[in-house]
Amino acid sequence: MRRDKTPRSYDVAACAEEQQWCSRAAGASTCVGTLSSAAVARKPSAGSSPPSPRLLGPTFLSCEMCRHRSRRLTLVNCETVTDGGNSDSLEPWKFNVAYDKLIIASGAEASTFGIKGVKEHATFLREVHHAQEIRRRLLLNLMLSDVPGISVEEKSRLLHCVVIGGGPTGVEFSGELSDFIINDVHERYSHVKDHIRVTLIEANEILSSFDVRLRQYATNHLIKSGVRLVHGVVKDVEPHKIVLNDGTEVPYGLLVWSTGVGPSPFIRSLEFPKAPGGRIGVDDWLRVPSVKDVFSIGDCSGYLESTGKPPLPALAQVAERQGKYLAALLNRIGKEGGGYANQAADMKLGEPFVYKHLGSMATVGRYKALVDLRQSKEAKGLSLAGFVSWFIWRSAYLTRVISWRNRFYVAVNWLTTLLFGRDITRI
Ligand SMILES: Cc1cc2nc3c(=O)[nH]c(=O)nc-3n(C[C@H](O)[C@H](O)[C@H](O)COP(=O)(O)OP(=O)(O)OC[C@H]3O[C@@H](n4cnc5c(N)ncnc54)[C@H](O)[C@@H]3O)c2cc1C
Repeated sequence: MRRDKTPRSYDVAACAEEQQWCSRAAGASTCVGTLSSAAVARKPSAGSSPPSPRLLGPTFLSCEMCRHRSRRLTLVNCETVTDGGNSDSLEPWKFNVAYDKLIIASGAEASTFGIKGVKEHATFLREVHHAQEIRRRLLLNLMLSDVPGISVEEKSRLLHCVVIGGGPTGVEFSGELSDFIINDVHERYSHVKDHIRVTLIEANEILSSFDVRLRQYATNHLIKSGVRLVHGVVKDVEPHKIVLNDGTEVPYGLLVWSTGVGPSPFIRSLEFPKAPGGRIGVDDWLRVPSVKDVFSIGDCSGYLESTGKPPLPALAQVAERQGKYLAALLNRIGKEGGGYANQAADMKLGEPFVYKHLGSMATVGRYKALVDLRQSKEAKGLSLAGFVSWFIWRSAYLTRVISWRNRFYVAVNWLTTLLFGRDITRI
């Protein structure tokens, strides 16, 4: 949105809580050292608001005292966060940011379905620091497994990597991990090559949104790469083992949780009408209809039931197109004099937002990927799997990386991995 807005129309203040990925698809690669964190983390843009502020929620004020240049002043309450929001970091600094137009795009949170122990013992794969944590844990376990006197049972536990959730993220991570084991661990940690294993646990079927032929390809490919696929539902997560619904106990050294997303506590705390699933409810123009001048896009928002539209998937392509649409809409509003607070109430907004799905891609490791260009699950269209798909996936990936700096880093990292193997230093 920042890139598409007209500079003279608006001043943009971005409040963002976390270090951002330049492309989310980078997550799996960062965990195993194919890409470095520097290559995938976005450089903070110039002119953004104070460091790492967290939105606490909007305040809608209409009292006389709050009038500002004869306009009603609306504020968001913020506080600074450091160190990923850990409680032992610096005292938060609270401040307000006034706005004429507010766009809430705070994303979603990993779903745990209330399963005991997930938050405490599993690692998610959503932010840059998650990838760094997975990497640290993986390399630590490889080192610990070499400690003299360690039992075979403990060694097997430490080196058992369990992934929960067979969606694109879980499958991509399992594929990258098995690639890492075959190409790097077998060579550099040869003493553990018979103990290290990857298990992917899924309650239904893996990659359920993909074409059935691609699903079968992915299943065969993962099994051939040494990934054990288990059909099961996790009931309980303990410090060193998970318990499935049928009572099976699965010991683990690394547990990665990737079972989809739901609304964050921040979104749940906002008293707006909600879309099905608890996201912020928006109308056809992405406005939050219950309050003036507030819009919401991306994973945190969904169509209100009254629009009669189906829910949008939690995908970057949805968020990106909504961002572009909203930038154009705000530009038009700005040009017609409705840019200030309360000035666009009776304006005609033109065409509503329409989402057209362009297809999905996922890599499964060892230079293979899936490309599904059907517009929906039921529609017909092109779908392919294998090396050509992997090439398309990587090319598309490079174009999605947000800056030339990151694009350059990513290309150099890929080349270095190809020539010298993955970086397995534990920093
Ligand atoms: C590992 C992984 C791989 C993915 N791969 C793909 C893919 O290949 N293709 C695809 O289309 N989609 C993919 N996705 C989904 C895609 O990343 C999301 O749909 C997209 O990022 C949503 O964008 P967003 O702007 O809504 O939210 P986000 O990108 O999540 O951004 C929201 C930001 O707001 C910040 N925030 C949250 N709360 C607050 C607060 N209170 N105050 C301030 N800031 C806050 C968050 O820290 C975050 O940085 C993937 C997701 C993951 C996790």
